[in-house]
Amino acid sequence: MPELSTQYLNEAIEDSKPFASQGSVNAAIPTFDDTMKDLLGVTIITKDFEIYSAGDYKQNVPMQSTSKIIGLMLALQDFGKDRVFQTVGMEPMGDFFNSISSLESPDTNKPFNPMINAGAISVASLIKGQSVDKRFERYLTFLKDITENDDLEMDESVYQSEIANGARNRSLAYFMQSTGTLVTDVEEALDLYFRMNSIMMCCNDFARVGLFLARGGIDPDGNKLIPDHHLRTVKAIMLTSGMYNASGHFAVEVGFPCKSGVSGSVIGSVPGKMGIGVVGPAIDSKGNSTAGGALIKKLSKDLELNMFGIE
Ligand code: GLU
Repeated sequence: MPELSTQYLNEAIEDSKPFASQGSVNAAIPTFDDTMKDLLGVTIITKDFEIYSAGDYKQNVPMQSTSKIIGLMLALQDFGKDRVFQTVGMEPMGDFFNSISSLESPDTNKPFNPMINAGAISVASLIKGQSVDKRFERYLTFLKDITENDDLEMDESVYQSEIANGARNRSLAYFMQSTGTLVTDVEEALDLYFRMNSIMMCCNDFARVGLFLARGGIDPDGNKLIPDHHLRTVKAIMLTSGMYNASGHFAVEVGFPCKSGVSGSVIGSVPGKMGIGVVGPAIDSKGNSTAGGALIKKLSKDLELNMFGIE
């Protein structure tokens, strides 16, 4: 087994970079252009806070769907598991992440899980606070505590683009209102969701989130911010639904909880061991980073990180 080192990560990046050619950059993200297609960066932070980085690890990208796990943690804190899962399911879904047809289930009308857009919008509707500003402030403060990065902020151009390109998300939210699934102010839930998607982070920040989940919800200052039973819920849902409708594939080939976003970001959390942050903006048709996915599979195999056993 190779030793985890900067040199090993440099080699792993070089091996995985060619997979970028199989994907394309999300045109709806205003901070992105085609020159970013071949970027690939990684940061790994171990449980003892050793940090290893390689490639384009300083590149900031919007959180996009990786923001969904932070929203879920806050909603679990605010309302507990039973109440949250009255609003949203916990089952994987085979459809695309912004599917509307799945909301028509005659049984419950609930979104399948908190990792798809409809589920994350209904989770956002639960996060407590007297206004969207206050709720977003809580979100950002929690994220800053986890990442130990006080400079995190939303990118205004990404936020405006989320609003301008938000027809599908608005449809999901109003559909849920029509079935009685989303009972709070729809525009406020959407606004919070759009803001969450627009927070800029780099590999180190993504790795910190993975590490936080891997180290029992303890922030870098040693404060326990979230109880173990909520962490267990979040990680189980990441494993079963975190990589869009390729989650089964990644559970088999990677074997630890991950969450991706259409910015090509991936958060990996290896329980008790490390957090992994990857940025590789070229994504496949399901929304996962092509080079980033290849890299995370390679890391799992080489460093023997699969929770279900090694090859
Ligand atoms: N911001 C986009 C949306 O809400 C993409 C989210 C994602 O990364 O899946 O549809």
